[in-house]
Amino acid sequence: MNEIKAGEGIKLTEKYQMKNYARSNVTFVRGEGCRLYDDTGKEYLDFLGGIAVAVLGHAHPAVTQAITEQAGKLLHVSNLFHTRTQASLGERLSKATIGGKVFFCNSGTEANEAAIKLARKWSRLRKPEKPHTIAVLAGSFHGRTYGGLSATGQPKFHEGFEPMLPGFVIVPFGDFDALKETLEAGVGAFLVEPIQGESGVRVFPDGFLKKAEALCRETGTLLVVDEIQTGMGRTGTFLASERYGIKPDVVTLAKGLANGLPLGALVAREEVAEAFGPGSHGSTFGGNPVCCAASLVVLDQILSPGFLESVDRKGRRFVDGLKGIAAGIEDVVEIRGAGLMIGVEMKVETKPIVARCLEAGLVINSAGSNVLRFLPPLIVTDEEIDKGLSILAKAMV
Ligand SMILES: *Cc1c(COP(=O)(O)O)cnc(C)c1O
Repeated sequence: MNEIKAGEGIKLTEKYQMKNYARSNVTFVRGEGCRLYDDTGKEYLDFLGGIAVAVLGHAHPAVTQAITEQAGKLLHVSNLFHTRTQASLGERLSKATIGGKVFFCNSGTEANEAAIKLARKWSRLRKPEKPHTIAVLAGSFHGRTYGGLSATGQPKFHEGFEPMLPGFVIVPFGDFDALKETLEAGVGAFLVEPIQGESGVRVFPDGFLKKAEALCRETGTLLVVDEIQTGMGRTGTFLASERYGIKPDVVTLAKGLANGLPLGALVAREEVAEAFGPGSHGSTFGGNPVCCAASLVVLDQILSPGFLESVDRKGRRFVDGLKGIAAGIEDVVEIRGAGLMIGVEMKVETKPIVARCLEAGLVINSAGSNVLRFLPPLIVTDEEIDKGLSILAKAMV
């Protein structure tokens, strides 16, 4: 790896890899906490965390130790057998979320695929007479495989890839009456992100999720909550569902679950989980021992006393700082989010601001075309927040 000279990585990627990503021209070689270093030695403050993944920051010593120890013992045996790390993580995840049973996979979209399959199966078993469609919201993002993509309520992701999987109904964002009409007409499940991440850190009107939960109970609709981005302490509670006072029947997790190793999970209420019998679903790598070892450390840290409270407190400090900056900038429409999942909607395209931040040593990104998105590691310090915001302030004018 180190034989590649500075700048060489970009050329190789462009020559040999598909053009499906719009990458920035930086090759990162190392990280530590909230800092990243590129192949010229330049230091960056990371307020993106690999898109809500590096919850404990880069090169966290306890994560590194757990991974290396497990790698030295056992990398993989398949799910034809039990492993200790997967067994422990299943228990801890069940207890940290909604109780019930866990299925492990390798990514967010796979967690949602599993949720879609489980919802269909459950709906067929429980209510054979009802349609087994799944209601989703406009602006949602549920992944790139055909199930997740079909559940994604953003036409731009579908373009050129049609036909989509049948059986999804897209309901306007935050429109409770439209949701009521759809659920009363009969669907199997309602799949929802507590805060829409990819389409611009979109927060629901007050009380929407709570009302949607009650509606699901009344209509016998399975409530499936995609916490792939909002989970793992991101919003100041382990699941964002707690913050909004709802209890999902099924919840999906990935991104921050193993601090950078590929791991996804589906947790379902006991009765719902029963819809998956032996052979109904599976994954060769899912719940890999090394990924699970990393995830056990993540859970230890996130659930340690005071950690989640600190996320909430730091989120408020971050938003206060943003408000100060925004006061002098007419193009700011709204600052929103929860905990350390924060968006700033602008009247203008945000790409140039993101590029200026990168140049000045701050990593952020845009969600949608006009929202600046901040997803720093949850271990970010007050000093780092202040430093990042001072870089941002200069990049925004
Ligand atoms: C990132 C994301 C996904 C997809 O996860 P992948 O690991 O990229 O497949 C699904 N849902 C939400 C809400 C996400 O933020």
